[in-house]
Amino acid sequence: MSVDWKHSDWIRKPSKMETYLREQQKKLAKTIKDEARQAFKVEGSKGNVYSVTCDKNHDNWGCTCPGFNFRGKCKHVSKIQKTTQGG
Ligand SMILES: [Zn+2]
Repeated sequence: MSVDWKHSDWIRKPSKMETYLREQQKKLAKTIKDEARQAFKVEGSKGNVYSVTCDKNHDNWGCTCPGFNFRGKCKHVSKIQKTTQGG
């Protein structure tokens, strides 16, 4: 009896957590979609085209280039920031 209870309790906890995390991920994905992130194409120095993104408040910047992944900022983002914020 007690073994069954412990077993089911042990199984339920992680699945609840998984469900919670999955819901959070869904919400986050939906939020990002709803906020209609803006995307800008920026040509890199080697002819590669990178995608710079930001949300509607011009916040949460992102870029697909390796430099942004490495440093969290890059010239592509700066370039778009200048055009969107510089009037
Ligand atoms: Zn970049």
